[in-house]
Amino acid sequence: MIVHSTRGASSASLSEAIAQGLAPDGGLYMPPQLPPRAIDWGPDLRTRATNLLAPYFADDALSAHVPAIVAEAFNFDAPLRWLDERTALLELFHGPTAAFKDFGARFLAATLARLVPAGATTTVLVATSGDTGAAVASAFHGRPGFRVVILYPEGRVSPRQAHQLGAFGDNVQACRVAGTFDDCQAMVKTALGNRDLVQRHRLTSANSISLGRLLPQMAYYAHAALACAKAERALPSFIVPTGNLGNAFACLLARERGLPIGRVMLATNANRALVALAATGRYEPSKTIATLANAMDVGAPSNAERLLARFPNVQRVIDADWADDEAIREAIRRAHAEHGLAICPHTACGMEVLRRRRERGDTDTWVVAATAHAAKFDTVVEPIIGAPVPVPEPLARLLASPSHSMPMSADAAALMRLLG
Ligand SMILES: *Cc1c(COP(=O)(O)O)cnc(C)c1O
Repeated sequence: MIVHSTRGASSASLSEAIAQGLAPDGGLYMPPQLPPRAIDWGPDLRTRATNLLAPYFADDALSAHVPAIVAEAFNFDAPLRWLDERTALLELFHGPTAAFKDFGARFLAATLARLVPAGATTTVLVATSGDTGAAVASAFHGRPGFRVVILYPEGRVSPRQAHQLGAFGDNVQACRVAGTFDDCQAMVKTALGNRDLVQRHRLTSANSISLGRLLPQMAYYAHAALACAKAERALPSFIVPTGNLGNAFACLLARERGLPIGRVMLATNANRALVALAATGRYEPSKTIATLANAMDVGAPSNAERLLARFPNVQRVIDADWADDEAIREAIRRAHAEHGLAICPHTACGMEVLRRRRERGDTDTWVVAATAHAAKFDTVVEPIIGAPVPVPEPLARLLASPSHSMPMSADAAALMRLLG
């Protein structure tokens, strides 16, 4: 399949687009619009992922590798946890770094590993608001031919996230930037826009702008929607806690492919550019506000460009609402009191947005994407629920390793000096 940039001046095969990250014209590669599929999607997450993703790789250098790539990426499950007859959490945090980003990062790593020439080193650059960096680091850690450089905003990720980012070592370098996530993202964009640098270091990005991360995220929405259909539940709608709009965009793509998905609703924190976009159709990036749901602290969500390119009538395609820090705390407290569950602050945004719909009498079936495990945000969650959150095994292992990061000022020149 040939993919085209949102800015119209670049095209590439899907594997070329994945290798490049950002398109040379500065735009984002768009997944081709495929017709809905009417036939059987298969019985399990991996088969469904393969059936969903294979058409994008048609006529591609990697077309024969899709099942193997999927097997590497989807080696843990995405179960639904029903809270009542009409409400479920889609648990996306059972991977090695306890957030949904493991799916996309592992797919990207498995893809790139089959694309890079032997003997050369590819540098994967990643700006992270918390969870991306760890997922990407974990996915590439110890892979020959790769170096990973992570930029994260110092003091704006949770202590455990920061520890996790610095705990890999070897081919993974973590840099704590004196700035915001948007600064980190801008630094990465600048580096990737420098042709000489890109060629010298075989630079690529692992942010959610990469189709190698975006596309596989469709699979768990397909999986959840088909599980609802099989159990003869009503058509599920999805609430997706949203920052850069990668995860929710994948849900829209899954619906476009004919999966039985009702509405798609964004839940943001106090960074509300997407809430305004869904209401007015106008996209106005704003300054980042720091919140308890830090992986969603994004003032200028990069996938907004994709959303507008694919769905010019955006108001009719998505709904959106948001939760401030007080509402996040209350949603965490409520989930524990009512369901005995520890939820992370991002998932809490989704739960709060749903609570308001229910309060207004909504009786539809809603699935809230649970984007991270609460144990990553213990300093927020534990004081609210007054109980310790058990740490999943892979996360516990990382937290027990020593951690090292390097300080960096918030300008692209500092990043270029590090790259050498
Ligand atoms: C990254 C992240 C989000 C936001 O996902 P986007 O794809 O950027 O919208 C939400 N929750 C958690 C836990 C995350 O790590």
